[in-house]
Amino acid sequence: MGRELRIRRITVHRYTWEMRDLGVDYNGFNTVYEPGARRTATGHVLTIETDAGITGEFAGGDTNSYAQVGMVARYLLGKNPLERERLYNDMKRAMRKLDRMGMGPIDIALWDIAGKVYSAPIYELLGGWRQTLPAYASTLHGDRVARGGLSSPEAFADFALRCKEEFGYPAFKIHGWGKDPREQGYIEREMATVLEVRKRVGPGMDFMIDPACEYDTWAETLKVGKACDEAGFLWYEDPFKDGGISAFAHKKLRELIKTPLLLGEHVRTLEPHVDFVLAGGTDFIRADAYYDCGITGLMKIAHAAEGLGLDVEIHAPGPAHRHCMAAIRNTNYYELGLVHPSVPGNKPPIYADDYSDLLDAVDRQGHVPVPQGPGMGVTLDWEYVRRHDAGKTVYEHDERA
Ligand SMILES: [Mg+2]
Repeated sequence: MGRELRIRRITVHRYTWEMRDLGVDYNGFNTVYEPGARRTATGHVLTIETDAGITGEFAGGDTNSYAQVGMVARYLLGKNPLERERLYNDMKRAMRKLDRMGMGPIDIALWDIAGKVYSAPIYELLGGWRQTLPAYASTLHGDRVARGGLSSPEAFADFALRCKEEFGYPAFKIHGWGKDPREQGYIEREMATVLEVRKRVGPGMDFMIDPACEYDTWAETLKVGKACDEAGFLWYEDPFKDGGISAFAHKKLRELIKTPLLLGEHVRTLEPHVDFVLAGGTDFIRADAYYDCGITGLMKIAHAAEGLGLDVEIHAPGPAHRHCMAAIRNTNYYELGLVHPSVPGNKPPIYADDYSDLLDAVDRQGHVPVPQGPGMGVTLDWEYVRRHDAGKTVYEHDERA
């Protein structure tokens, strides 16, 4: 018989924090540098308590994903948290009409419980491959702030060079500008940025561009793709307004440009990722534990990619992603972001230890470490969360049920 633990209580803790020097661009969607701006943001921590006195924690997620947590909380109460594969499959079926974003926080907290039960960091349980992770500096979107901003191809090139020389980053990713319809020469500026970073930095740094689905047309996408070819970019990610989900459009694009594509950030969960690759829609495969059903879901995608002989690239930073990347052979870079030359901190200070995903979190080789304690291996600053408390939702096991 295996271990018999039971889930007793699930709590979604909300807190608020003040974002500084960050605003939004023309349509309100992209976060960009705005000197002097103040915004109140809401953060979340999910805790899953067990009858063994062990609690799983996950910091992150948003209001939409926690609405889905509410949908499966009653199912989870009383279940054995160590049966992640069963819980994954049951929740996946229950959420078949949704995008399943709520599964990520739950599954990651379950892995934290497992690591604490077995007294091992998660990456060891997954199968260790490496202890440090090469990172790329992933920028905030281009802005329109002339002094200290990322407002021109030259500003991106300056920042790329600084990331390489001052911090040791081996790679750099551009998030270009939001496509403000009032501006002329939008695509030409994107192309110029691609060419300028390579010209300024020269060889010896990998470059990527992620327009985050801003380009209006496939023809504009092709133009920037040809600039990527000329500048020898490592990948071209989610370029245009299909929303990163048309395998056919990207298959046609791959026939005309040489730069590898990276799609999959907006394709949810294991099976659609595999279908997208088999349809010829991408070269690198994107995966994210928060979006793709947790560490369990991400590792399934990573191993599916391995079986196809391809690389998976993990989206966005965070301790769960460090553990996954430390246990995957077929992957290249940790996404450290979003960074900007004039914004030193754009994340809430919720870790009481030295865990950080800010610009200066890398060592001289441009690597980040893998947390080494049991489970997630990070220490949440609960005092900070309580001081900034904005309410909580509690789901509890009823013994009579
Ligand atoms: Mg992206």
